Amino acid sequence: MLPEILDAQAGWMIGHRSAECKRLVWDIMPKLRQVFRTEGRVFFQASSGTGLLEAAVRNCVDKKALHCINGAFSQRWYEISQANGKACDSIEVPWGEAIKPEMVSEKLASGEYDTVAFTHNETSTGVTSPIKALAEAVRQGANGDEIVIMVDSVSGMAGARLETDDWDVDVVVSASQKAFALPAGLAFCSVSERAMKRAAGVPNRGYYFDFLELDRYFVKYQTPSTPAISLLFALDQQLDVILAEGYDQRMARHLAMRDRTISWAKSQGFSLFAEAGYESPTLTCVSNDPGIDVAGLNQYLKELGMTLSNGYGSQLKEKTFRIAHMGQLQMADLEALFAAIEGYMAGA
Ligand SMILES: *Cc1c(COP(=O)(O)O)cnc(C)c1O
Repeated sequence: MLPEILDAQAGWMIGHRSAECKRLVWDIMPKLRQVFRTEGRVFFQASSGTGLLEAAVRNCVDKKALHCINGAFSQRWYEISQANGKACDSIEVPWGEAIKPEMVSEKLASGEYDTVAFTHNETSTGVTSPIKALAEAVRQGANGDEIVIMVDSVSGMAGARLETDDWDVDVVVSASQKAFALPAGLAFCSVSERAMKRAAGVPNRGYYFDFLELDRYFVKYQTPSTPAISLLFALDQQLDVILAEGYDQRMARHLAMRDRTISWAKSQGFSLFAEAGYESPTLTCVSNDPGIDVAGLNQYLKELGMTLSNGYGSQLKEKTFRIAHMGQLQMADLEALFAAIEGYMAGA
């Protein structure tokens, strides 16, 4: 995170119905649309990503949802649908693998689903699923034109390519604290015409996250309830940073960091947890084949002002560890991290 972006949060408060606030939202909207690669709506709300993942389900699932599960976060989204009383099924592949178009086509052939949920970038396993091909498979299948495609891109958007309009995906959810390199507390989501139309016919969408209510205010550059104004100051500036780098350049930087992380990990005797060909541009999940003490490594790194993430949950802790290469991290940051890990492994 850039220090000037953290500092941007310290601006004096403005009233949420003031002209300045309207101006702020007016400034943010086109930039957010550019990052989301859409000319349609992008809402934001004060919550973590989970808030808008729940909103997607509340607003879009009418008949039945199909959740595609390949890790902890996609599993959790399925549980969110269940917790909201929505009819839903799942297809599941082993953790570490990507969801494939054929599996989805096969499951959708029954014609019973009106909503499909994909996780773009599974943060628990470092796997990116092929959203473009998956969306194509949905559109070509039974009532493909009516299906609302929901995508969790909480750890993908702004780091791993997702062409919202070109790939014809309906709801894309993200959050401030991952690849956007912002403090936690803001969630974003793009919502297509198809999804808005669906929402209009879905009862009990709730209040705080109702897409229709959000839309009624966003068209006036306002929000239904008080926005997280400090975070909006930071968002406004960070979007400038992201767009100044350039979309293609930002994607390329992430891919270069990923490729370097993969080759470094292999050079040190590690293998990758992610299925080959689906390795995430924003984080690499490394299999801990040599059996190093990951918690000890992290303690060591902390003293050097660095960190990595242990494997996700009881299943993957100590068996894997995850190296983030998202946000404003640069190749030099990674090189410093690799040197430190090598130092630790050499017993320094
Ligand atoms: C972090 C993350 C979430 C949860 O987001 P919160 O902002 O913590 O609610 C959901 N899905 C994915 C893929 C994530 O990486």
